[in-house]
Amino acid sequence: MSTAESKPAARPAASETPGDKVVQGARRMLSAKAERFTESVIREMTRLALQHNAVNLAQGFPDFAAPAEVKEAARAAIAADDNQYAITWGAKPLRDAIVEKFARTQGVTVDPEREITICCGSTEAMMSAMMGVINPGDEVVVFEPFYENYGPDAILSGAAPRFVRLHPPTWSFDPDELARAFGPRTKAIIVNTPNNPTGKVFTRGELECIRDLCVRWDAFAITDEIYEHILYDGTQHISMAALDGMRDRAITINSMSKTYSVTGWRVGWAIAPPGPTEAIRKVHDFLTVGAAAPLQAAGALALRLPERYYTELASTYQFKRDRTLQILTRAGFECFKPAGAYYIMTDISRFGFSNDKDFTRYLVEEIGVAAVPGSSFYGDPEDGARQVRFAFCKTPETLAAAEERLARLRPQ
Ligand code: GLN
Repeated sequence: MSTAESKPAARPAASETPGDKVVQGARRMLSAKAERFTESVIREMTRLALQHNAVNLAQGFPDFAAPAEVKEAARAAIAADDNQYAITWGAKPLRDAIVEKFARTQGVTVDPEREITICCGSTEAMMSAMMGVINPGDEVVVFEPFYENYGPDAILSGAAPRFVRLHPPTWSFDPDELARAFGPRTKAIIVNTPNNPTGKVFTRGELECIRDLCVRWDAFAITDEIYEHILYDGTQHISMAALDGMRDRAITINSMSKTYSVTGWRVGWAIAPPGPTEAIRKVHDFLTVGAAAPLQAAGALALRLPERYYTELASTYQFKRDRTLQILTRAGFECFKPAGAYYIMTDISRFGFSNDKDFTRYLVEEIGVAAVPGSSFYGDPEDGARQVRFAFCKTPETLAAAEERLARLRPQ
């Protein structure tokens, strides 16, 4: 897991050496917040994959090409000397393209001058949004399992997370448990749909249940919608911002990364009402000043790609999902079939390992496939000890290599 909250606080050991004292002294010089979480487990798995020459089904980045016209637009922008800072809250052509696309896909009209902030990826957009609206002591409701960044996001912004469980195999939540998580201290709920790591796509009914609680307790919904176009079996994506009553309390986070297969470009954004946007823009300005200008220019073109691009993206991913489900099932995993996003959560009980971390270590070192231990998506690692996540945003060749290696696994 990425938050270290359930671990005991660092205390001087009874038999302290002079060396320990230096370490303790140095610790006092460091941020107590930074001490409360560990480095990213997902990115650590990528490093282990490289070290052991393993097939990387851990970190969710595509290993195939981005659309040719999007790459060409970035090259053209650099050739035209689009090399200096864009306006801090984002280049106007990209903000205009975001407005058009949000209206086209979700029927929500926003003001590019007062309601959009372009950031360095959705990671920064989420952090800027949380730092922009949270005060110490505020509570933030988080569905669990959750994308590991939300833990450190909560700690760095000063929020106390209140976890609400998503239950396999459909990853549904108990509306009463959700209602109990809200209260007078609730500042926001984080809604990631389509969901990482489970592949759940929240239904209109579920989103309306969340909406009713946000309205009742005067809370924001901060939504991470980066997998909005990666949907299977006719599933629909609905933005919280599109629901009646949410226009003034939805903060919609999105990015180019997954939709256009450019996770390394770091171009994301937050769409929020004017008040929160003012705060988000200030935090963003002093964190990063702005996202890469020529890549924002390419984003303006990407967001206007024809509908065909998105249907092809979804059907290509549906093929990869089905292929990966087949590979993992044959290898002995119990798979929870995703309705969206590009991950498969699995249950590893059949392999007889005592926990997910031992299993993923064995998998990367001995079998040659990297995956993410389930515990990194839970507040209490014990809750994810039987789960492991695989990413399938990979070429057929990569998936075939994983299949060959996973065939050596022996379920009991
Ligand atoms: N969102 C991707 C994942 O969950 C990549 C995470 C990251 O490294 N930023 O794997």
